Amino acid sequence: MMNDNCIFCKIAAGEIPSYTVYEDDDFKAFMDISPASKGHTILIPKKHADNLYELDETVASKLLPVAKKIATALKTELQCEGLNLLQNNGEIAGQTVFHFHMHLIPRYEGDQVVVKWVQEKYEGEPLDQLSARIKKHI
Ligand code: 5GP
Ligand code: ZN
Repeated sequence: MMNDNCIFCKIAAGEIPSYTVYEDDDFKAFMDISPASKGHTILIPKKHADNLYELDETVASKLLPVAKKIATALKTELQCEGLNLLQNNGEIAGQTVFHFHMHLIPRYEGDQVVVKWVQEKYEGEPLDQLSARIKKHI
């Protein structure tokens, strides 16, 4: 369903223009307005979901094949040396538009993109306990 206050719903409906690279009944992919690198593409489901948790299962199951098509097109045309598939959920994770989306960010030698975390020795809750706690919800 369309959310009247959502910029990506408006892009999906064609009410706000975008440079579209792919479109089918369920998805639209378009160039990011403030790209992290050349070819930075946003892939959205047309049906509004705030985030991954709310994404319809059927739509979710169709998502990765579409992402793969776009990633392959980016690699073929732009000859990027790598690509990050990124998907933010929640403000703390960097989400600024609250309509589920995936970033496809082509990577080039010497680009300014940073996707990084510090790999420290884990000294928190034992991983057998932690994994068991998570598993019981799946
Ligand atoms: P987030 O930070 O929520 O994961 O990513 C939102 C992305 O949407 C940002 O990279 C931002 O540049 C892009 N964006 C926000 N508004 C628009 C818009 O109106 N048009 C397009 N093409 N991209 C947008
Ligand atoms: Zn929306």
